[in-house]
Amino acid sequence: MITQETIKMNLDEIRAAMSFSAHRAGRNIQDIRLMAVTKLKPADVIQSLIDLGIKDIGENYPDETMTKIEVFQNAPEDVRLHMIGHCQSRKARLVAEYFDSFQSLDRLDIGLKLNSILEKKGKKMPVLLELNTGEEVNKKGWILKGTDFSSSFLQDLEQLQNCTQLDIQGLMTLPPFTENAEDNRYYFANLRQVLENLNSHYGTHLTELSMGTSIDYCVAIEEGATFIRLGTILVGPRA
Ligand SMILES: *Cc1c(COP(=O)(O)O)cnc(C)c1O
Repeated sequence: MITQETIKMNLDEIRAAMSFSAHRAGRNIQDIRLMAVTKLKPADVIQSLIDLGIKDIGENYPDETMTKIEVFQNAPEDVRLHMIGHCQSRKARLVAEYFDSFQSLDRLDIGLKLNSILEKKGKKMPVLLELNTGEEVNKKGWILKGTDFSSSFLQDLEQLQNCTQLDIQGLMTLPPFTENAEDNRYYFANLRQVLENLNSHYGTHLTELSMGTSIDYCVAIEEGATFIRLGTILVGPRA
């Protein structure tokens, strides 16, 4: 298992690269949050991250998260647990109960379901809408063609805006897998453009862009990411 010392070394390198990219893009490093992605990683690794001062942690599989939920429940108040994976309808209850935010809202019905569960709890949740920037058939989220979204996306957005317990804060994407970060610059730039278009023409006030993983987070920062989601580069490859 990866040691806290190794994670610390990785973190130092990542923070340096983040600063470099932010500087290059004329951005304030304060505006970019590093989310540690810990799917399939044991509780000890998560505890090390928390001990090192990480405040945002992303998980993909609610059932797996439950096996290590204590580490989150014992964490300082300001540590946030984000759901970033595809959420089956029957897992919405776990997300509503145990998570602090939902970054992978990828279809209308999961939003409506989550909203109705949250309503009963009197809990409000920050959410991001997931867009399928690479038009991939096996990927979730509303399809973007370049910067064009479908009319069904707009209709769904309108319905989601009426969900009193969902605080829609921005957009999220996971572009096609590549070894070459530059390949994804186009998709990141498109997502940012879509956020701006929605804000200027559709009355939204979206501020968050969750984009960039181990391979391409520097490019994502240059294109406006406010959350980068790092697994492998921070805590090593997954089994
Ligand atoms: C697993 C995952 C990540 C982290 O990917 P790495 O390549 O390990 O950094 C980021 N975002 C999402 C949505 C993921 O599922």
